Amino acid sequence: MNIKDYKELYLSGEKRPIEVIDEIFKNIESDNKSEKPLNAFISLRKEKALEEASVINDFSKPLAGIPIAVKDNINVEGELTTCGSRILSNYRAIFDAFVIKKLKDAGAIIIGKTNMDEFAMGSSNETSYFGPVRNPHDRDRVPGGSSGGSAASVISFVPISLGSDTGGSIRQPASFCGVVGVKPTYGRVSRFGLVAFASSLDQIGPFARSVEDAAIVYNVIGGHDPMDSTSLNKDHEVNIDNIKKDIKGLRVGIPKEYFTGGINEEVEKGIKKSIEVLKELEAKIVDISLPHTEYAVATYYIIAPAEASSNLARFDGIRYGVREKADTLIETYKKTRGNGFGKEVKRRIMIGTYVLSSGYYDAYYLSAQKVRTLIRDDFKKAFDNVDVIISPTSPTTAFKIGEKIDDPISMYLSDIFTISANIAGIPAMSIPIGRDSKKLPIGIQIMSKWLDEETMFRVAYNLEKNSDYK
Ligand code: GLN
Repeated sequence: MNIKDYKELYLSGEKRPIEVIDEIFKNIESDNKSEKPLNAFISLRKEKALEEASVINDFSKPLAGIPIAVKDNINVEGELTTCGSRILSNYRAIFDAFVIKKLKDAGAIIIGKTNMDEFAMGSSNETSYFGPVRNPHDRDRVPGGSSGGSAASVISFVPISLGSDTGGSIRQPASFCGVVGVKPTYGRVSRFGLVAFASSLDQIGPFARSVEDAAIVYNVIGGHDPMDSTSLNKDHEVNIDNIKKDIKGLRVGIPKEYFTGGINEEVEKGIKKSIEVLKELEAKIVDISLPHTEYAVATYYIIAPAEASSNLARFDGIRYGVREKADTLIETYKKTRGNGFGKEVKRRIMIGTYVLSSGYYDAYYLSAQKVRTLIRDDFKKAFDNVDVIISPTSPTTAFKIGEKIDDPISMYLSDIFTISANIAGIPAMSIPIGRDSKKLPIGIQIMSKWLDEETMFRVAYNLEKNSDYK
């Protein structure tokens, strides 16, 4: 069911929001009792959600009575905000993030906080202190990460959810779970109230069951926020009628660097089929080059850990979360951080402090910033000739739980196609376009020019309409 279907239920009087919300909690509770629970939620907001649902009477609001799940690194006042970490396992938010205020104003009902890789570091949801999330299509596989709980919950329980995307954490799990996932232009959606991972790359965005629903949620959560110094003061809304227009004559770029091996054959076949669909819709297919693509992962794994090591310095057991008892202040820090953070987070903090340390700063961090400019320039040049760029979202479909957890490089490579959009700050999204022979969803990524979410949604809408993915 999509947003429109819920609205029809409510407006026709067939069901009241409180009944719908109650059913969702029953489904989650019964799944929790199953043999292999999805484990998509870290905490539920049952009482408050039911209470809010019981008083809804204005159905003109865009999300009136619509249930939504929120990634556990976004602050919802009064609720746990653990970031999937032991160190914040008892932390309750004292304010609403900008996006949460917007959702509440729009009438949405927040169901609960979704499971995620610890501090959003990961591509499989296996680094969560609260245990892995399972993929709804095959419960022995990962849902992708880091927003795996948000992606899985949209397949199984709620029509929409929020995630955060620093290097692919919305798009890659969207692809693995067969849902729509959107990372807007950097600055479109306020990061106020999002626990920072890598501030120059982080963006909040929606998961949904359809392109239209994702656009509706994007319209609700975007906009200028004086509380975020990187928030853009520009009209952000996409026109829902415009995204339904045809794509005749639109120029679609295919970057040759994204098809040079390493992609699973079935994924490549799926993408090629979509390219044929685009041709049938009379879009113009243009071969393009993004020559610095091969440096994107390396650049990301310097910039993101550098920013993370700085952002995570605040978690010292004094101001937030769990504090370990020790005799001295330094011992308290050491014990709290030593026991509070998991292995992957520690790895990132060590890489980050290393590349920022005196003597290595120029060699690593500064070089990475220069390559970042080159990657951004690649896109600038490419967008002189095309309106959107498409690629696979991930080189593979969902992999098995445990398959990559001990091999960080292979895990990092699952974001090889998504990372560049964060480095450049452009909007990008993933939609499901088919399945492989194991019936696992395949996702296609659509990227557009800075601030041109509308064209991105339009191409996605047309592809969705003409794909046989169910
Ligand atoms: N998988 C990438 C990482 O581990 C991206 C994470 C994200 O987008 N939050 O850093």
